[in-house]
Amino acid sequence: LPRTVSGIQATSDSLHLGNYIGALQQFVAHQESHDAFYFIANMHAITVEQDPTDLRERTLRTAAQFIAAGLDPEKSTIFVQSQVPAHPKLSWVLECTTSMGEAGRMTQFKDKSAKQEHVSLGLLTYPALMAADILLYNPQMVPVGEDQRQHLELTRNLAERFNYRFGETFVVPDAQIMKTTAKIYDLQNPGAKMSKSLPSPLGRIDLLDDAKSLTKKIKSAVTDDGKEIAFDPEAKPGVSNLLTIYSSLTGRSVDDIVAEYEGKMYGHLKFDLAEIAVGALAPVRERTNELLQDRAQLQRILDAGAAKADEIAEVTLRDVYDKVGFI
Ligand code: ATP
Ligand code: MG
Repeated sequence: LPRTVSGIQATSDSLHLGNYIGALQQFVAHQESHDAFYFIANMHAITVEQDPTDLRERTLRTAAQFIAAGLDPEKSTIFVQSQVPAHPKLSWVLECTTSMGEAGRMTQFKDKSAKQEHVSLGLLTYPALMAADILLYNPQMVPVGEDQRQHLELTRNLAERFNYRFGETFVVPDAQIMKTTAKIYDLQNPGAKMSKSLPSPLGRIDLLDDAKSLTKKIKSAVTDDGKEIAFDPEAKPGVSNLLTIYSSLTGRSVDDIVAEYEGKMYGHLKFDLAEIAVGALAPVRERTNELLQDRAQLQRILDAGAAKADEIAEVTLRDVYDKVGFI
């Protein structure tokens, strides 16, 4: 089977709809056709300050949400980044392969550092660790949201650079970025991506929101001037975002949905979408809470995943250490 690898940071109690639609749903789809490795990025999480108790809790909560959303530990290898030491070990080698200029040009670094008072060195070297996360497993394909396109491009460059200098070592992976769902926008600010680390309580739909807050958030979503329900991300970013969400939660095409709402008002669309979201997310929320009742079992799944990931990652790491001349 072709291999795939991807991760999500443990930076909040609940994943949001952008993570779900842009990443997690792809993960679930690919586990059927790929040798799949999915990890909870707790090492990436500490590039900005995290409370240790929160981080531990969020790591387990993120794992529970992976499984509740449909990842099957029998099919996918699910693990925690810090439990596989090859990740930071390869990262060091890749940091020494990356130029300061390249790292400083990353838009995620520019965006996130602008928001921090204390900018950690890890925030700058983040993409080298991400390249290590990926290249250790030699995957053909990496499913991510649009915001990670630039990091994937850097990963490919680092793989090619290393291969050129030290001989064929890494598979150069393709980014898998879904055209329609790779960027879900904030409901209150449809110019910005929905994000865990931005304080936008009404703009972000959390997977673990209850029916009441889901409904409230969707009904208060910012819509656009005019009243026609049409898919036009430039002129109507708010309504278009709602249509994208509607489409991905129902599996129906945007055109089909637009046709159904011809002559209707924004309020109709929001009313129906709220019901659809409640129906789609309630099972995920319930299953997550069930899984969190048995943390020892979750930890066992993660330990088994880490052992499996470690075996493969160590082979790549040994090869790299040997090639760069580490004795
Ligand atoms: P943070 O704000 O802490 O960076 P995040 O919401 O960006 O959190 P990540 O853990 O950084 O989430 O990203 C996990 C995956 O989810 C990545 O593949 C990323 O591209 C994808 N993703 C994040 N936000 C969105 C979004 N709004 N729409 C679609 N995909 C998204
Ligand atoms: Mg992010």
